[in-house]
Amino acid sequence: MNPLDRRQFLKAALLASGALTATSLGTARAQALKGTRVLVVGAGISGLGAARSLVNQGADVVVLEAKPHIGGRLHTDYSLGAPFEVGAGWIHGPSGQNPVKQLADAVGAKTVVTEDDDLIVFDADGEEIDAARLTKINGDWRRVLDQIDDELELEDGRSLRGAIADLAPWALDDPGVVWALSAYTEFAKGASIETLSAVYHDDDAAFPSADVVVTSGYDKILSPIAAGLDIRLSTAVTGIGYGDDGVTVTTGGGTLTADYVVCSVPLGVLKAETIAFDPPLPRAYRDNIRGLGFGSVTKIAFKFQTPFWDTETQYFGVMTEEKGRWNYWLNYRTFSPENILLGLSVGAYAPVADRMTDAAMAADALDVLRDVWGDAVGTPVQALTTHWSTDPETRGAYSFPMPGGTPSQFDELAAPVAERLFLCGEHTVFDYAGTTHGAYLSGLRAAEQIIEAAR
Ligand SMILES: Cc1cc2nc3c(=O)[nH]c(=O)nc-3n(C[C@H](O)[C@H](O)[C@H](O)COP(=O)(O)OP(=O)(O)OC[C@H]3O[C@@H](n4cnc5c(N)ncnc54)[C@H](O)[C@@H]3O)c2cc1C
Repeated sequence: MNPLDRRQFLKAALLASGALTATSLGTARAQALKGTRVLVVGAGISGLGAARSLVNQGADVVVLEAKPHIGGRLHTDYSLGAPFEVGAGWIHGPSGQNPVKQLADAVGAKTVVTEDDDLIVFDADGEEIDAARLTKINGDWRRVLDQIDDELELEDGRSLRGAIADLAPWALDDPGVVWALSAYTEFAKGASIETLSAVYHDDDAAFPSADVVVTSGYDKILSPIAAGLDIRLSTAVTGIGYGDDGVTVTTGGGTLTADYVVCSVPLGVLKAETIAFDPPLPRAYRDNIRGLGFGSVTKIAFKFQTPFWDTETQYFGVMTEEKGRWNYWLNYRTFSPENILLGLSVGAYAPVADRMTDAAMAADALDVLRDVWGDAVGTPVQALTTHWSTDPETRGAYSFPMPGGTPSQFDELAAPVAERLFLCGEHTVFDYAGTTHGAYLSGLRAAEQIIEAAR
Protein backbone atom coordinates (compact mmCIF):
# COMPACT_ATOMS: atom_id res chain seq x y z
CA MET A 1 0.00 0.00 0.00
CA ASN A 2 1.50 3.37 -0.85
CA PRO A 3 1.45 6.14 1.78
CA LEU A 4 -1.54 7.88 0.22
CA ASP A 5 -3.59 4.69 0.13
CA ARG A 6 -2.69 4.04 3.74
CA ARG A 7 -3.82 7.47 4.85
CA GLN A 8 -7.07 7.22 2.88
CA PHE A 9 -7.73 3.80 4.40
CA LEU A 10 -7.31 5.11 7.93
CA LYS A 11 -9.45 8.14 7.18
CA ALA A 12 -12.16 5.86 5.81
CA ALA A 13 -11.96 3.72 8.94
CA LEU A 14 -12.29 6.81 11.08
CA LEU A 15 -15.25 8.16 9.19
CA ALA A 16 -16.99 4.80 9.17
CA SER A 17 -16.53 4.36 12.91
CA GLY A 18 -17.80 7.83 13.69
CA ALA A 19 -14.63 8.53 15.68
CA LEU A 20 -14.25 11.88 14.03
CA THR A 21 -17.09 13.19 16.12
CA ALA A 22 -16.75 12.92 19.87
CA THR A 23 -20.54 12.76 20.11
CA SER A 24 -20.43 9.21 18.76
CA LEU A 25 -18.64 8.00 21.89
CA GLY A 26 -20.61 5.41 23.76
CA THR A 27 -23.67 5.74 21.57
CA ALA A 28 -24.87 2.69 19.69
CA ARG A 29 -25.51 3.40 16.03
CA ALA A 30 -26.03 0.67 13.44
CA GLN A 31 -26.58 -2.88 14.70
CA ALA A 32 -24.62 -4.57 11.91
CA LEU A 33 -23.08 -7.05 14.36
CA LYS A 34 -26.13 -8.06 16.40
CA GLY A 35 -25.61 -11.65 17.59
CA THR A 36 -21.93 -11.68 16.58
CA ARG A 37 -19.49 -12.74 19.33
CA VAL A 38 -16.02 -11.21 19.43
CA LEU A 39 -13.12 -11.73 21.83
CA VAL A 40 -10.61 -8.90 22.18
CA VAL A 41 -7.19 -9.79 23.59
CA GLY A 42 -5.60 -6.82 25.38
CA ALA A 43 -7.20 -3.74 26.96
CA GLY A 44 -4.81 -1.06 25.73
CA ILE A 45 -6.25 1.83 23.75
CA SER A 46 -6.31 -0.23 20.53
CA GLY A 47 -8.19 -3.17 22.06
CA LEU A 48 -10.59 -0.87 23.90
CA GLY A 49 -11.17 1.16 20.73
CA ALA A 50 -12.01 -2.02 18.82
CA ALA A 51 -14.27 -3.30 21.61
CA ARG A 52 -16.17 -0.01 21.95
CA SER A 53 -16.72 0.24 18.22
CA LEU A 54 -17.88 -3.42 18.01
CA VAL A 55 -20.29 -3.01 20.94
CA ASN A 56 -21.66 0.12 19.29
CA GLN A 57 -22.44 -2.12 16.32
CA GLY A 58 -24.37 -4.57 18.48
CA ALA A 59 -21.68 -7.26 18.93
CA ASP A 60 -21.27 -9.31 22.11
CA VAL A 61 -17.70 -8.53 23.13
CA VAL A 62 -15.47 -9.85 25.91
CA VAL A 63 -12.09 -8.17 26.48
CA LEU A 64 -9.34 -10.31 28.03
CA GLU A 65 -6.50 -8.41 29.72
CA ALA A 66 -3.43 -9.98 31.37
CA LYS A 67 -2.73 -7.08 33.72
CA PRO A 68 -4.89 -6.14 36.71
CA HIS A 69 -5.70 -2.81 35.05
CA ILE A 70 -6.71 -1.52 31.63
CA GLY A 71 -4.67 0.90 29.52
CA GLY A 72 -1.52 -1.06 28.69
CA ARG A 73 1.07 1.51 27.62
CA LEU A 74 -1.37 4.29 28.49
CA HIS A 75 -1.19 4.16 32.25
CA THR A 76 -1.05 6.92 34.87
CA ASP A 77 0.32 6.80 38.43
CA TYR A 78 -1.10 9.56 40.63
CA SER A 79 0.98 8.85 43.76
CA LEU A 80 3.35 11.81 43.29
CA GLY A 81 0.54 14.34 43.60
CA ALA A 82 0.78 15.10 39.87
CA PRO A 83 0.18 12.49 37.16
CA PHE A 84 3.22 10.37 36.27
CA GLU A 85 2.65 8.89 32.84
CA VAL A 86 4.21 5.43 32.97
CA GLY A 87 3.82 5.05 29.20
CA ALA A 88 2.51 7.68 26.79
CA GLY A 89 3.02 11.22 28.07
CA TRP A 90 2.13 13.50 25.17
CA ILE A 91 -0.76 13.83 22.77
CA HIS A 92 1.16 14.32 19.56
CA GLY A 93 -0.51 16.70 17.11
CA PRO A 94 -3.64 17.46 19.19
CA SER A 95 -5.61 19.00 16.31
CA GLY A 96 -9.34 18.49 15.86
CA GLN A 97 -8.79 15.48 13.57
CA ASN A 98 -6.70 13.63 16.12
CA PRO A 99 -9.07 11.03 17.63
CA VAL A 100 -7.13 10.99 20.91
CA LYS A 101 -7.63 14.74 21.21
CA GLN A 102 -11.35 14.04 20.70
CA LEU A 103 -11.26 11.50 23.55
CA ALA A 104 -9.44 14.04 25.72
CA ASP A 105 -12.04 16.69 24.93
CA ALA A 106 -14.84 14.25 25.73
CA VAL A 107 -13.60 13.93 29.33
CA GLY A 108 -12.67 17.62 29.66
CA ALA A 109 -8.96 16.76 29.98
CA LYS A 110 -6.63 19.61 30.93
CA THR A 111 -3.62 19.93 28.64
CA VAL A 112 -0.53 22.14 28.44
CA VAL A 113 1.57 22.73 25.33
CA THR A 114 5.20 21.77 25.84
CA GLU A 115 7.79 23.97 24.13
CA ASP A 116 10.72 22.03 22.68
CA ASP A 117 12.76 25.25 22.47
CA ASP A 118 12.27 26.04 26.15
CA LEU A 119 15.46 24.16 26.90
CA ILE A 120 18.80 24.43 28.68
CA VAL A 121 21.51 21.92 27.76
CA PHE A 122 24.55 21.01 29.83
CA ASP A 123 27.73 19.38 28.53
CA ALA A 124 29.22 16.19 29.99
CA ASP A 125 31.02 18.25 32.66
CA GLY A 126 27.74 19.82 33.75
CA GLU A 127 28.54 23.22 32.18
CA GLU A 128 25.59 25.04 30.61
CA ILE A 129 26.17 25.54 26.90
CA ASP A 130 25.39 28.99 25.52
CA ALA A 131 22.40 29.85 23.36
CA ALA A 132 24.45 30.22 20.17
CA ARG A 133 25.95 26.73 20.57
CA LEU A 134 22.49 25.25 21.25
CA THR A 135 21.09 26.91 18.14
CA LYS A 136 23.98 25.47 16.12
CA ILE A 137 23.44 21.98 17.57
CA ASN A 138 19.74 22.07 16.67
CA GLY A 139 20.54 23.38 13.18
CA ASP A 140 23.25 20.76 12.59
CA TRP A 141 20.96 17.95 13.78
CA ARG A 142 18.26 19.08 11.33
CA ARG A 143 20.83 19.52 8.53
CA VAL A 144 22.22 15.99 8.95
CA LEU A 145 18.77 14.41 8.88
CA ASP A 146 17.78 16.49 5.85
CA GLN A 147 20.93 15.32 4.08
CA ILE A 148 20.01 11.68 4.84
CA ASP A 149 16.50 12.26 3.50
CA ASP A 150 17.81 13.93 0.35
CA GLU A 151 20.56 11.51 -0.53
CA LEU A 152 19.25 8.05 0.36
CA GLU A 153 17.28 5.86 -2.05
CA LEU A 154 14.21 4.10 -0.61
CA GLU A 155 15.90 0.69 -0.81
CA ASP A 156 18.94 1.84 1.21
CA GLY A 157 19.51 -0.73 3.96
CA ARG A 158 21.78 1.30 6.24
CA SER A 159 21.09 2.17 9.85
CA LEU A 160 20.75 5.86 10.66
CA ARG A 161 24.14 5.80 12.37
CA GLY A 162 25.70 3.94 9.43
CA ALA A 163 24.35 6.46 6.93
CA ILE A 164 25.53 9.42 9.01
CA ALA A 165 28.98 7.80 9.38
CA ASP A 166 29.18 7.54 5.58
CA LEU A 167 27.62 10.88 4.59
CA ALA A 168 28.26 13.29 7.46
CA PRO A 169 30.89 11.72 9.73
CA TRP A 170 31.65 15.09 11.34
CA ALA A 171 28.24 14.90 13.08
CA LEU A 172 29.24 11.83 15.09
CA ASP A 173 32.33 13.66 16.38
CA ASP A 174 30.20 16.50 17.78
CA PRO A 175 28.84 15.55 21.23
CA GLY A 176 26.11 18.17 20.79
CA VAL A 177 24.75 16.61 17.59
CA VAL A 178 25.06 13.11 19.08
CA TRP A 179 23.06 14.35 22.06
CA ALA A 180 20.33 15.74 19.73
CA LEU A 181 20.26 12.50 17.73
CA SER A 182 19.65 10.67 20.98
CA ALA A 183 17.40 13.05 22.95
CA TYR A 184 15.21 13.85 19.93
CA THR A 185 15.46 11.04 17.37
CA GLU A 186 16.11 8.04 19.61
CA PHE A 187 13.36 9.21 21.98
CA ALA A 188 10.85 9.82 19.18
CA LYS A 189 11.46 6.42 17.57
CA GLY A 190 12.12 4.40 20.73
CA ALA A 191 15.21 3.05 18.97
CA SER A 192 18.96 3.52 18.94
CA ILE A 193 20.36 5.19 15.84
CA GLU A 194 22.37 1.97 15.39
CA THR A 195 19.19 -0.11 14.95
CA LEU A 196 16.91 2.44 13.25
CA SER A 197 16.43 2.49 9.47
CA ALA A 198 18.11 5.55 7.95
CA VAL A 199 15.65 5.91 5.12
CA TYR A 200 12.51 5.52 7.27
CA HIS A 201 13.81 7.29 10.38
CA ASP A 202 11.12 9.96 10.09
CA ASP A 203 8.77 8.95 7.30
CA ASP A 204 5.59 8.57 9.29
CA ALA A 205 2.64 10.95 9.34
CA ALA A 206 1.51 13.40 12.00
CA PHE A 207 -1.52 15.45 12.88
CA PRO A 208 -0.85 19.19 13.13
CA SER A 209 -0.55 21.26 16.37
CA ALA A 210 2.10 21.45 19.06
CA ASP A 211 2.34 18.47 21.41
CA VAL A 212 0.64 18.65 24.80
CA VAL A 213 0.89 16.85 28.12
CA VAL A 214 -2.34 15.91 29.87
CA THR A 215 -2.06 17.51 33.30
CA SER A 216 -5.29 15.94 34.54
CA GLY A 217 -3.98 12.40 33.77
CA TYR A 218 -3.76 10.73 30.34
CA ASP A 219 -5.50 7.50 31.39
CA LYS A 220 -8.79 9.33 32.03
CA ILE A 221 -9.35 9.58 28.27
CA LEU A 222 -10.04 5.84 28.29
CA SER A 223 -13.12 6.02 30.49
CA PRO A 224 -15.64 6.84 27.73
CA ILE A 225 -14.48 3.94 25.57
CA ALA A 226 -14.05 1.45 28.44
CA ALA A 227 -17.31 2.24 30.25
CA GLY A 228 -19.73 -0.68 30.31
CA LEU A 229 -17.46 -3.11 28.43
CA ASP A 230 -17.14 -6.70 29.68
CA ILE A 231 -13.42 -6.64 30.58
CA ARG A 232 -11.82 -9.62 32.34
CA LEU A 233 -8.71 -8.33 34.11
CA SER A 234 -5.75 -10.51 35.22
CA THR A 235 -6.66 -12.92 32.44
CA ALA A 236 -3.64 -13.79 30.33
CA VAL A 237 -4.32 -15.40 26.98
CA THR A 238 -2.02 -18.31 26.13
CA GLY A 239 -3.59 -19.62 22.94
CA ILE A 240 -5.65 -18.37 19.98
CA GLY A 241 -7.20 -20.91 17.63
CA TYR A 242 -9.01 -19.85 14.46
CA GLY A 243 -10.74 -21.69 11.64
CA ASP A 244 -13.83 -21.89 9.45
CA ASP A 245 -16.15 -22.45 12.42
CA GLY A 246 -14.93 -19.54 14.57
CA VAL A 247 -12.27 -18.89 17.17
CA THR A 248 -11.11 -20.40 20.46
CA VAL A 249 -9.13 -18.42 23.01
CA THR A 250 -7.34 -20.15 25.88
CA THR A 251 -6.64 -18.49 29.23
CA GLY A 252 -5.42 -19.82 32.58
CA GLY A 253 -9.07 -19.92 33.65
CA GLY A 254 -10.46 -21.86 30.68
CA THR A 255 -11.42 -21.59 27.04
CA LEU A 256 -13.76 -19.12 25.33
CA THR A 257 -15.25 -19.39 21.87
CA ALA A 258 -16.54 -16.69 19.51
CA ASP A 259 -16.99 -15.79 15.87
CA TYR A 260 -13.96 -13.48 15.64
CA VAL A 261 -10.93 -12.52 17.68
CA VAL A 262 -9.05 -9.22 17.81
CA CYS A 263 -5.47 -9.59 19.04
CA SER A 264 -4.08 -6.26 20.29
CA VAL A 265 -1.08 -7.47 22.31
CA PRO A 266 2.16 -5.50 21.83
CA LEU A 267 4.73 -6.41 19.19
CA GLY A 268 7.09 -7.53 21.97
CA VAL A 269 4.57 -10.15 23.09
CA LEU A 270 4.11 -11.39 19.50
CA LYS A 271 7.91 -11.59 19.12
CA ALA A 272 8.20 -13.62 22.35
CA GLU A 273 5.61 -16.10 21.03
CA THR A 274 3.97 -16.45 24.45
CA ILE A 275 0.61 -16.84 22.71
CA ALA A 276 0.33 -20.05 20.66
CA PHE A 277 -1.61 -19.45 17.44
CA ASP A 278 -3.35 -22.49 15.96
CA PRO A 279 -2.75 -22.70 13.06
CA PRO A 280 0.47 -20.69 13.38
CA LEU A 281 0.33 -17.18 11.95
CA PRO A 282 1.09 -17.27 8.21
CA ARG A 283 4.78 -16.96 7.36
CA ALA A 284 4.48 -13.36 6.06
CA TYR A 285 3.10 -12.24 9.45
CA ARG A 286 5.86 -14.07 11.36
CA ASP A 287 8.50 -12.52 9.09
CA ASN A 288 7.10 -9.03 9.65
CA ILE A 289 6.90 -9.55 13.42
CA ARG A 290 10.55 -10.62 13.41
CA GLY A 291 11.55 -7.85 11.02
CA LEU A 292 10.11 -4.93 12.96
CA GLY A 293 12.10 -3.25 15.71
CA PHE A 294 10.79 -2.85 19.25
CA GLY A 295 12.97 -0.72 21.51
CA SER A 296 12.54 0.82 24.92
CA VAL A 297 12.23 4.20 26.59
CA THR A 298 12.85 4.38 30.34
CA LYS A 299 11.42 7.03 32.64
CA ILE A 300 12.24 8.04 36.18
CA ALA A 301 10.34 10.67 38.14
CA PHE A 302 11.90 12.27 41.21
CA LYS A 303 9.87 14.37 43.59
CA PHE A 304 11.98 16.75 45.71
CA GLN A 305 11.19 18.81 48.79
CA THR A 306 12.49 21.97 47.12
CA PRO A 307 13.57 22.70 43.57
CA PHE A 308 17.29 23.16 42.84
CA TRP A 309 16.73 23.84 39.15
CA ASP A 310 15.37 26.78 37.20
CA THR A 311 11.64 26.22 37.69
CA GLU A 312 10.76 28.36 34.65
CA THR A 313 12.58 26.19 32.08
CA GLN A 314 10.61 23.32 30.56
CA TYR A 315 13.38 20.91 29.50
CA PHE A 316 16.95 20.20 30.53
CA GLY A 317 19.35 18.28 28.31
CA VAL A 318 22.52 16.62 29.55
CA MET A 319 25.19 15.44 27.09
CA THR A 320 26.01 12.35 29.13
CA GLU A 321 29.03 10.48 27.81
CA GLU A 322 27.04 7.27 27.46
CA LYS A 323 24.57 8.04 24.66
CA GLY A 324 20.96 7.90 25.79
CA ARG A 325 21.70 7.87 29.54
CA TRP A 326 19.26 10.25 31.35
CA ASN A 327 19.92 12.88 28.72
CA TYR A 328 16.55 14.65 28.65
CA TRP A 329 14.53 15.95 31.62
CA LEU A 330 11.05 17.46 31.80
CA ASN A 331 10.42 20.02 34.54
CA TYR A 332 6.94 19.53 36.02
CA ARG A 333 7.10 22.96 37.66
CA THR A 334 6.27 24.47 34.27
CA PHE A 335 2.76 22.98 34.51
CA SER A 336 2.35 21.72 38.08
CA PRO A 337 3.08 22.94 41.61
CA GLU A 338 4.91 19.66 42.37
CA ASN A 339 8.74 19.69 42.49
CA ILE A 340 9.14 16.85 40.03
CA LEU A 341 11.81 16.17 37.43
CA LEU A 342 11.09 13.45 34.88
CA GLY A 343 14.22 11.86 33.38
CA LEU A 344 14.44 9.80 30.20
CA SER A 345 16.84 7.12 29.05
CA VAL A 346 16.60 6.21 25.38
CA GLY A 347 18.34 4.25 22.61
CA ALA A 348 20.70 1.47 23.60
CA TYR A 349 20.81 2.73 27.20
CA ALA A 350 17.06 2.26 27.83
CA PRO A 351 17.15 -1.57 28.01
CA VAL A 352 20.24 -1.27 30.24
CA ALA A 353 18.33 1.02 32.60
CA ASP A 354 15.25 -1.24 32.44
CA ARG A 355 17.28 -4.12 33.84
CA MET A 356 18.41 -2.11 36.90
CA THR A 357 16.68 -2.40 40.25
CA ASP A 358 14.63 0.66 41.19
CA ALA A 359 17.33 1.70 43.69
CA ALA A 360 20.16 1.27 41.17
CA MET A 361 18.22 3.20 38.54
CA ALA A 362 17.55 6.05 40.98
CA ALA A 363 21.26 6.19 41.93
CA ASP A 364 22.25 6.18 38.25
CA ALA A 365 19.88 9.04 37.36
CA LEU A 366 20.80 11.06 40.48
CA ASP A 367 24.47 10.83 39.43
CA VAL A 368 23.56 12.62 36.22
CA LEU A 369 21.64 15.33 38.10
CA ARG A 370 24.61 15.76 40.49
CA ASP A 371 26.97 16.18 37.52
CA VAL A 372 24.94 19.27 36.71
CA TRP A 373 23.64 20.65 40.02
CA GLY A 374 26.19 19.11 42.44
CA ASP A 375 25.30 18.89 46.11
CA ALA A 376 22.24 21.07 45.61
CA VAL A 377 20.52 17.86 44.49
CA GLY A 378 18.85 16.69 47.67
CA THR A 379 17.46 13.28 48.46
CA PRO A 380 14.21 12.76 46.56
CA VAL A 381 11.14 12.31 48.74
CA GLN A 382 9.76 9.87 46.19
CA ALA A 383 10.88 8.17 42.98
CA LEU A 384 8.94 6.24 40.34
CA THR A 385 10.55 4.14 37.62
CA THR A 386 9.54 2.24 34.50
CA HIS A 387 10.94 -1.01 33.06
CA TRP A 388 9.08 -1.48 29.79
CA SER A 389 11.44 -3.93 28.10
CA THR A 390 11.37 -6.33 31.05
CA ASP A 391 7.58 -6.09 31.49
CA PRO A 392 6.33 -9.53 30.31
CA GLU A 393 3.07 -8.10 28.92
CA THR A 394 4.82 -5.49 26.80
CA ARG A 395 8.56 -6.25 26.33
CA GLY A 396 9.43 -2.83 24.93
CA ALA A 397 8.10 0.67 24.29
CA TYR A 398 7.07 1.10 20.67
CA SER A 399 7.80 -0.28 17.22
CA PHE A 400 10.21 1.15 14.66
CA PRO A 401 11.56 0.29 11.19
CA MET A 402 14.93 -1.47 11.27
CA PRO A 403 17.60 -1.13 8.55
CA GLY A 404 16.28 -2.80 5.39
CA GLY A 405 12.71 -2.67 6.74
CA THR A 406 9.71 -1.11 5.00
CA PRO A 407 6.39 0.51 5.96
CA SER A 408 4.60 -2.55 4.57
CA GLN A 409 6.00 -4.65 7.45
CA PHE A 410 3.68 -2.68 9.75
CA ASP A 411 0.69 -2.37 7.43
CA GLU A 412 0.62 -6.01 6.29
CA LEU A 413 0.09 -7.07 9.91
CA ALA A 414 -3.28 -5.33 9.70
CA ALA A 415 -4.62 -7.67 7.02
CA PRO A 416 -7.28 -10.10 8.38
CA VAL A 417 -6.03 -13.65 8.97
CA ALA A 418 -8.47 -16.20 7.54
CA GLU A 419 -11.26 -13.60 8.01
CA ARG A 420 -11.33 -14.64 11.71
CA LEU A 421 -8.28 -13.14 13.40
CA PHE A 422 -7.60 -9.39 13.33
CA LEU A 423 -4.38 -7.91 14.65
CA CYS A 424 -4.31 -4.33 15.87
CA GLY A 425 -2.03 -2.13 17.97
CA GLU A 426 0.47 0.63 17.30
CA HIS A 427 2.74 -1.80 15.42
CA THR A 428 0.11 -2.38 12.70
CA VAL A 429 -0.01 1.17 11.34
CA PHE A 430 3.23 2.58 9.93
CA ASP A 431 1.95 6.13 9.57
CA TYR A 432 1.13 6.54 13.25
CA ALA A 433 3.23 3.79 14.85
CA GLY A 434 4.39 4.42 18.40
CA THR A 435 1.50 6.71 19.30
CA THR A 436 -1.77 6.46 21.18
CA HIS A 437 -3.73 7.79 18.20
CA GLY A 438 -2.12 5.21 15.90
CA ALA A 439 -3.05 2.44 18.30
CA TYR A 440 -6.61 3.75 18.68
CA LEU A 441 -7.08 4.08 14.90
CA SER A 442 -5.84 0.51 14.44
CA GLY A 443 -8.50 -0.72 16.86
CA LEU A 444 -11.23 1.15 14.97
CA ARG A 445 -9.89 -0.37 11.76
CA ALA A 446 -10.07 -3.91 13.19
CA ALA A 447 -13.72 -3.30 14.11
CA GLU A 448 -14.49 -2.12 10.57
CA GLN A 449 -12.78 -5.23 9.19
CA ILE A 450 -15.02 -7.44 11.32
CA ILE A 451 -18.12 -5.63 10.07
CA GLU A 452 -16.86 -6.29 6.55
CA ALA A 453 -16.13 -9.98 7.30
CA ALA A 454 -19.54 -10.50 8.91
CA ARG A 455 -21.50 -9.11 5.93
C1 LIG B 1 7.58 4.95 27.67
C2 LIG B 1 6.58 5.20 26.59
C3 LIG B 1 6.34 6.49 26.18
C4 LIG B 1 5.40 6.76 25.19
N1 LIG B 1 5.12 8.04 24.85
C5 LIG B 1 4.10 8.30 24.00
C6 LIG B 1 3.65 9.64 23.82
O1 LIG B 1 4.18 10.57 24.43
N2 LIG B 1 2.61 9.85 22.98
C7 LIG B 1 2.00 8.83 22.30
O2 LIG B 1 1.07 9.09 21.52
N3 LIG B 1 2.39 7.55 22.48
C8 LIG B 1 3.42 7.27 23.31
N4 LIG B 1 3.78 5.99 23.56
C9 LIG B 1 3.19 4.92 22.74
C10 LIG B 1 1.78 4.56 23.18
O3 LIG B 1 1.75 4.42 24.57
C11 LIG B 1 1.40 3.23 22.51
O4 LIG B 1 1.58 3.36 21.09
C12 LIG B 1 -0.04 2.81 22.76
O5 LIG B 1 -0.45 3.06 24.07
C13 LIG B 1 -0.13 1.33 22.43
O6 LIG B 1 -1.45 0.88 22.58
P1 LIG B 1 -1.79 -0.61 22.14
O7 LIG B 1 -3.22 -0.81 22.42
O8 LIG B 1 -1.27 -0.85 20.78
O9 LIG B 1 -0.89 -1.53 23.09
P2 LIG B 1 -0.90 -1.66 24.66
O10 LIG B 1 -1.29 -0.40 25.31
O11 LIG B 1 0.43 -2.23 25.04
O12 LIG B 1 -2.06 -2.71 24.94
C14 LIG B 1 -1.86 -4.10 24.78
C15 LIG B 1 -2.48 -4.81 25.98
O13 LIG B 1 -2.34 -6.22 25.81
C16 LIG B 1 -2.13 -6.79 27.10
N5 LIG B 1 -1.56 -8.11 26.95
C17 LIG B 1 -0.29 -8.47 26.65
N6 LIG B 1 -0.19 -9.81 26.61
C18 LIG B 1 -1.41 -10.31 26.87
C19 LIG B 1 -1.93 -11.63 26.97
N7 LIG B 1 -1.17 -12.72 26.75
N8 LIG B 1 -3.24 -11.79 27.29
C20 LIG B 1 -4.05 -10.71 27.49
N9 LIG B 1 -3.59 -9.44 27.43
C21 LIG B 1 -2.30 -9.24 27.10
C22 LIG B 1 -1.19 -5.78 27.75
O14 LIG B 1 -1.15 -5.93 29.15
C23 LIG B 1 -1.81 -4.46 27.31
O15 LIG B 1 -2.76 -3.98 28.22
C24 LIG B 1 4.70 5.68 24.58
C25 LIG B 1 4.93 4.38 25.01
C26 LIG B 1 5.86 4.13 26.01
C27 LIG B 1 6.08 2.73 26.47
